[in-house]
Amino acid sequence: MIIHTDGIVLKQRKIANNRRIIVTFSKTYGKLSAGTSINEKSKGKSALALRPFTYAEYQMFKGRDYYNIDSAYVKKSYYAIGEDLDRFLTASKLLEYVDGITQEEQPRPRLFDLTIEFMESITRATGNYETLLYAFILKTMKMQGIMPEMECCVNCGKPLSDFGKGKDRKIKQFSVTSGGVICEDCQKAETSTGSALIYNPSFDIIEVFQYFIMKPLETFEKLKLKPEVSESIKNILSEYVKRYLEIDILKDEIEWR
Ligand SMILES: [Zn+2]
Repeated sequence: MIIHTDGIVLKQRKIANNRRIIVTFSKTYGKLSAGTSINEKSKGKSALALRPFTYAEYQMFKGRDYYNIDSAYVKKSYYAIGEDLDRFLTASKLLEYVDGITQEEQPRPRLFDLTIEFMESITRATGNYETLLYAFILKTMKMQGIMPEMECCVNCGKPLSDFGKGKDRKIKQFSVTSGGVICEDCQKAETSTGSALIYNPSFDIIEVFQYFIMKPLETFEKLKLKPEVSESIKNILSEYVKRYLEIDILKDEIEWR
């Protein structure tokens, strides 16, 4: 059977007989691992469409238990991503993350659209690439069913309103171990177990996370975070994603507390 689908290359590896396995994230079919004989170095249209950071339409043959990419053509090439090392590294982490949260042949159209939106945004951005990545990760948490609790203390369930309003709100800590914000009493109990991973950011973590989740990705193309805020978000997300998704993409420069 011949199928057509839009997709983006997540990764590839060489196999025997000058063939490659291309792992694509396709809009209609989800992640697909497909073999191909299309030569990487050729100048043909199909070869260009199989490069990283390219949004392409694929024509594939679907066999009984395999896919083969027969031809492909570029819909949009985000070639600018490869022209800046930081941009390239961040976009590569994004692809690794998407690879980590998708399963073969499980359609994820919303995640697909968000991935393309990310490619557009990171191409336009002139810095703050990691901020875009944090926004992407936070936006996917709901889809993955691992949204942190931010409406009450994650352990005792007391609503936020019990802790005061705005700047005076007395629930400021975030427990990676329990998966959400945690009140002072519960934090003490959890810390006494000796294995708790609790962060105490200098800013309102609830407000910041909600902002990242609600605002469209393009907002973050220009958003400059204070270095300590960025560092704190990175540390929390890094540990959170490792714990709940077993993905370790933010590993560079992690500071252990
Ligand atoms: Zn509590």
